[in-house]
Amino acid sequence: MHKRRWLLQRLLFGAAAFHVVGDSAAATLPLLDENDPAAIALGYRANAKLVDRRRYPSYDGRQACVNCALLAFGTGIQRSCSLFPGKLVFASGWCKSWIKKGR
Ligand code: SF4
Repeated sequence: MHKRRWLLQRLLFGAAAFHVVGDSAAATLPLLDENDPAAIALGYRANAKLVDRRRYPSYDGRQACVNCALLAFGTGIQRSCSLFPGKLVFASGWCKSWIKKGR
């Protein structure tokens, strides 16, 4: 339950932050570091191909930020993610909160 509340708070805050920041300003945000505690907690990797499949068996090799419902719309290779407000993630990245786009 605690994790669900945390995830919901991150989603709401991220959506609000993205709305305030806007798409063009988002391009100036810093990249999410894989060693950021929040990134570590969610197993974020900038290159999804480097995900440890033994540690994250839900990763199927086709999942990436680019096809995750939480990545901001656009075409850039670095975009905002609702879970990491104030940072950009790589479209080629992945974390264990991946949600199929278009569900
Ligand atoms: Fe964000 Fe989805 Fe990428 Fe995870 S997989 S970092 S939730 S866009």
